[in-house]
Amino acid sequence: MPQTRKRPSKKQRALEVLARLKQMYPDAVCSLDYETPVQLLVATILSAQCTDERVNKVTPELFRQFPDAAALASAELDEIIELVRSTGFYRNKAKNIQGACRLIMTEFEGQVPRSMAELLRLPGVARKTANVVLAHAFGINAGVTVDTHVKRLTQRLGLTQADDPVKIEQDLIKLLPQPDWENWSIRLIYHGRAVCNARRPLCDRCLFTDLCPSVDRALVPIVPSELTSVSLASAPELA
Ligand code: SF4
Repeated sequence: MPQTRKRPSKKQRALEVLARLKQMYPDAVCSLDYETPVQLLVATILSAQCTDERVNKVTPELFRQFPDAAALASAELDEIIELVRSTGFYRNKAKNIQGACRLIMTEFEGQVPRSMAELLRLPGVARKTANVVLAHAFGINAGVTVDTHVKRLTQRLGLTQADDPVKIEQDLIKLLPQPDWENWSIRLIYHGRAVCNARRPLCDRCLFTDLCPSVDRALVPIVPSELTSVSLASAPELA
């Protein structure tokens, strides 16, 4: 009698993807440059609809002139606008940065708050920004950061059917151990940039082909998964 192979559950696949991501990108870190929690908050607000690379070109001069919440809160708005112009949506971003810093000065004694509920009170801060700040500034895994890469890859890997980032986050929270919530996102972002691009996923360079329902079968012959973490001698180089 031929043995029937049981299909791995969504949770098993998520945990296997997580294990492989850790091996593939062991040194993954937040790619925004910052020295303080306020600077991380500002950089994350600026990163909406913009690359981290572009943000990192803008923030050195912004933080040289306005290094902390007090300076940003009392700056001329037009000066902030000029400094962040190249990141797009610059008027709104400048207003939000100043609004957030003013609230930090008046309500939080000049310190970035350390809870999701408090962070969500700041202008320009939704769950994605709050998750990044809590995880990287304070080491708190309050949720899973869902940016455009995390959304696309989580969908392609068949780990969510949702389109709304808040719902995708809730799906991921059920699948992943809490200590890994942020490192899932950071590493998936690396993989999204290096391999699983928005326009043309490079499935022939991907180590998730046996786990991914979206794999381009024209590029990759599929061998059934044993759910064994791969040897990563062939891990993709980051672009
Ligand atoms: S197999 Fe293809 S679609 Fe699936 S995660 Fe890898 S690159 Fe993306």
